[in-house]
Amino acid sequence: MRAFVGRGLALPRLDRHGDLRWQPATVSAVTAILKNPAYAGAFVYGRTWQKPSEIPGERPQKSPRRGTDWRIVVREKYPAYIDWETFEKIQAMLRDNRAEYQHIKSRGIPRDGAALLHGITYCGECGHKMAVRYKGGSQYVCNHLKIQRGAPECQNLRAAPIDAQVAAAFLEAVAPAEIDALSKARKTHLQSERALRHAEEQQVERLRYQAALAERQFNRTDPDNRLVTGELERRWEAALSELRRAEEALAQRTMHKSNEPLGVPHDLRAKVIALGNRLPALWDNPATRRDHRKALLRCLIEKVVMRRCARDKAEVRIVWRGGATTELVVTLPVNAVAALPRHKEMVERICALARDGAYDDEIARILTQEGHHSPWEADKVLPITVRRIRLKHRLKVRHRTRWPAVADHLTVTQLAQRLRIPVKWIYVQLKRESILTTREASGRFLFPDNTNALQAIRSLRNHHIAKIDLREDHHEK
Ligand SMILES: [Zn+2]
Repeated sequence: MRAFVGRGLALPRLDRHGDLRWQPATVSAVTAILKNPAYAGAFVYGRTWQKPSEIPGERPQKSPRRGTDWRIVVREKYPAYIDWETFEKIQAMLRDNRAEYQHIKSRGIPRDGAALLHGITYCGECGHKMAVRYKGGSQYVCNHLKIQRGAPECQNLRAAPIDAQVAAAFLEAVAPAEIDALSKARKTHLQSERALRHAEEQQVERLRYQAALAERQFNRTDPDNRLVTGELERRWEAALSELRRAEEALAQRTMHKSNEPLGVPHDLRAKVIALGNRLPALWDNPATRRDHRKALLRCLIEKVVMRRCARDKAEVRIVWRGGATTELVVTLPVNAVAALPRHKEMVERICALARDGAYDDEIARILTQEGHHSPWEADKVLPITVRRIRLKHRLKVRHRTRWPAVADHLTVTQLAQRLRIPVKWIYVQLKRESILTTREASGRFLFPDNTNALQAIRSLRNHHIAKIDLREDHHEK
């Protein structure tokens, strides 16, 4: 609309009586032309339907049907100005712009948050836009059907690995793409410039014809009929001045045009290449804000379609602006034991060992030796993984002493319990060698479980004696 108004180009419209009128462009006129399938050569019936009003008693309202719901479509009925593909592309752009205008949400302007592709991700399963969920790290979630129809969630994918690979693909593509985009934009600009110029020339042609017509009409009237002659003279003059304005504007534009440089200037091209080379460093720079990174991605990426193809793999398709695509396969971290390749075997082994009374850390050690690993670890099983699986299968750690008991002997703990004295005091005496007793190879102290020994320790505790020797070999001597 602005381009037409700026150049004083009129648009052909039908008035109430079905007569052709050339009128200044308005938004509604431009939109009506863009949305009219007749310009793509198609005859269409049933573009609107009577939508029942939400207020009871009110008359139904005329409302547009979506393109796919049109009742009758006969293609190639009229000479087409644009092909059907272009028409559909325009419709998509209009929908997109409208979405952007109405709810910013749908077009993916950069938003805060960790997920880099927020707003431009689409589900490869059902085609709906994906949302971001921040739950233990960001995820791309397709919950459209869940929200709309209560169906189960379509899919969810970890954002971080996908973001990383898409960013890498972006940086890889950036240098040639920038330059391509620049020259492509330049070409498009020149094309539309040419089209507008053609329209201007046609307009001048039309005005010339109208002026000639008005002149003929004026010449044909009876000069005595002053009223008619006056009106026709006025029309003729108006047509001439309109023609003159259009001709002048066209001439001026032609003059300006010759001063405009053609193609991409050399220094600008060099600048773009330099920027392309600097971009990876800029990207990695911690000072670069996340929303800037997001905005950068959106300069080149139209959307990203993703689909989980295996438990730990996602197919990711990047749709670049301009329609080219790049396919990636992203490996996703496995976040559950159930997703580990040998998980069944691992669970069975843990249960078996736990039933045998092994401790979690022991089980973890054994499983590590057998080549298992925890979900987030590359080469080892963590005791916490064992514990989780064990508790899930309701297996308690069997209570057992760590070392087998020795008949007629007490450990430090047992002795402390028996005599109601602190464990620490016993250790202090052992260290001072106030108590000498047998020591196993493992380092465990053992005290003879008999009245004499216990009595001796009581005496030591009450400071009646300074030293006791409970060593077996000593007694036997
Ligand atoms: Zn989906």
